[in-house]
Amino acid sequence: MKFNTYILLIIPLFSLIYCQTENTSISYGSPLSGHMDNGVKLPYKGENFVPYSTLGFLLGRTYVNSRVRDIIVETYKIQQTKSPDVIFMYGETGFENGGPFKPHKTHMNGTSVDFMVPIINKDEESIPLPTSVFNKFGYSIEFTLDGKFKNYEIDFESMASHLKSLHQISVSMGYGIQLVIFDPKMRHHLINTVDGEYLKNNLKFNTKRVWVRHDEHYHVNFDIPTE
Ligand SMILES: [Zn+2]
Repeated sequence: MKFNTYILLIIPLFSLIYCQTENTSISYGSPLSGHMDNGVKLPYKGENFVPYSTLGFLLGRTYVNSRVRDIIVETYKIQQTKSPDVIFMYGETGFENGGPFKPHKTHMNGTSVDFMVPIINKDEESIPLPTSVFNKFGYSIEFTLDGKFKNYEIDFESMASHLKSLHQISVSMGYGIQLVIFDPKMRHHLINTVDGEYLKNNLKFNTKRVWVRHDEHYHVNFDIPTE
């Protein structure tokens, strides 16, 4: 057999194996006590999104169920057409096989994702949250109740738009969103946006403060089939 023929056979075989691996994330149990088979990494970055930390990405802290990955990637594409100048940032998600994910209490079965809040600077430009090892990769940033931190401000319009798209894309793929966790004392800012009414009617938010404040990030539990 000629070398070229080998290549022609190997490429489809490789893509078959690759595609099979791609489609087999299985989430077990709940975000509080579950695990996952064949988790996939979120893409490192795209036109309008970045990770909270390169180190976190390299340490394998950004794995999700492949269905969740598809929803997230598709949503970023939609946001790119809606508001191309807005930059989004995802936070921690979970390990490749799920399971305990300290310091988080959930994130155990590939269905939980943290998104860092989109922000604008004093010139009203959308910029990524300034995350570093000195502020626990963004997680120890404290926003005031009206969404301010240093010279930055939470871009509630973009955050609401992102949540609306996440929900719409989830539903269009046959899934849903189980719960959104965000500081209840700041939620009215989201509801007062253009997409606020949609969020109020379609998403379930936590009503009480959870173990950490959730002002610098919003946590989303996706509703996808689990074993
Ligand atoms: Zn979380």
